[in-house]
Amino acid sequence: MKATQIGTCQICGSVQKLPNGRLAKHGYTVEYGWGFNGVCNGSEKLPFEISKEYAESAWSSSKTSLENLVSPSEEEYGVEWRSISSPSLTEAQRTLKKQWNEYNQTKQYLSEFIRFQTPRCFAWTPQPLKDVSEEATKQETAKVATRNVRALARHRDDTKRELIRSVEKIEKVVDCYDLSCATTANAHKFADLARKNGEVELANEVVNNLAAFKAAKSAHAEATAAYETDKKAALA
Ligand SMILES: [Zn+2]
Repeated sequence: MKATQIGTCQICGSVQKLPNGRLAKHGYTVEYGWGFNGVCNGSEKLPFEISKEYAESAWSSSKTSLENLVSPSEEEYGVEWRSISSPSLTEAQRTLKKQWNEYNQTKQYLSEFIRFQTPRCFAWTPQPLKDVSEEATKQETAKVATRNVRALARHRDDTKRELIRSVEKIEKVVDCYDLSCATTANAHKFADLARKNGEVELANEVVNNLAAFKAAKSAHAEATAAYETDKKAALA
């Protein structure tokens, strides 16, 4: 039977296809840091939408394992904070250190697994399965939204470059003027002075550059706002 539906894994919570109504074979997601390797135990089991039986049994056996976890004997003074590769450790200390590391890691993995399973098992109610196509459409929509955000980000960056170019153009003409003033105010003064001295062409060039700067500035502001709005919508 072709898998037309998808379901959530009872063990790792990943979403997989459901050939014959059971979870497709899949590896562990490293996301939760449970330290498991290879094929996830939730493979070929019923999806979490239908049953929590397997999740609950894994949860309770993890609890038992955690309760029965025996810590190695106490580390000697000065060993605890040293790294396992430290040359000042004796072989015996190194072995003990290794046991401690393994113990701490197992404890952490079990605790995290229990922390993940407890609320989801507690709040469990049967859920309808989703169609593969339905999920694919959802993912496609999300992808398009991302593409839009990216396109808008590119546009925003283009307008930023255009804005910088327009400032550079002004600076090029107004080069020798008083640099303590802001570029645009400076340019206005420069244009006025040029006109007064009869250099009409130069004055017009500066004025045109200033108009281009103004247009570039508002185009950039618009592009930035469009990007921010779309980003917010994509995240919602
Ligand atoms: Zn799984």
